[in-house]
Amino acid sequence: MSNNPEFYKNGLRFQCQSSGNCCTSHGEFGFVFLTIDDRRRFAKHLKISTAAFTRKYCDLKDGVWHLKEDIKNPDCMFLSNKRCSVYEARPTQCRTWPFWPEVLNAKSWGKEVASFCPGVGKGPLWNKTEIEKIMIEDHENTKKFGT
Ligand code: SF4
Repeated sequence: MSNNPEFYKNGLRFQCQSSGNCCTSHGEFGFVFLTIDDRRRFAKHLKISTAAFTRKYCDLKDGVWHLKEDIKNPDCMFLSNKRCSVYEARPTQCRTWPFWPEVLNAKSWGKEVASFCPGVGKGPLWNKTEIEKIMIEDHENTKKFGT
């Protein structure tokens, strides 16, 4: 499903509650996809080469790199005590959550996102311009998938 500007025209309230829930696999929102920029940032943060980071932490799915998953543990491998252990270097996909185009409609936001993200409806009101700026950043990022 795609974004609906009517849905967020008056803004949306959101503030991260540090639940760590968005760092746990949720069906279609499960994979943490990575562009070359994401992998370089990660590698620099971990003080290893991009090739070494990719070998150790990434898998390919349909030509797109993503963080490796453990089928026995739905948590992201960088989640530690409900906190992101690589916060400064986290991927663009994580920074733009939850203002992703595909969830900015009443059904996805109200049912799917709100069901696991306690930040929905809390904190400051993000206006339409702010939401669209992040949404565009996320959209541009997805165009770099496969790099
Ligand atoms: S990289 Fe960090 S913010 Fe992104 S899913 Fe993993 S723990 Fe969460």
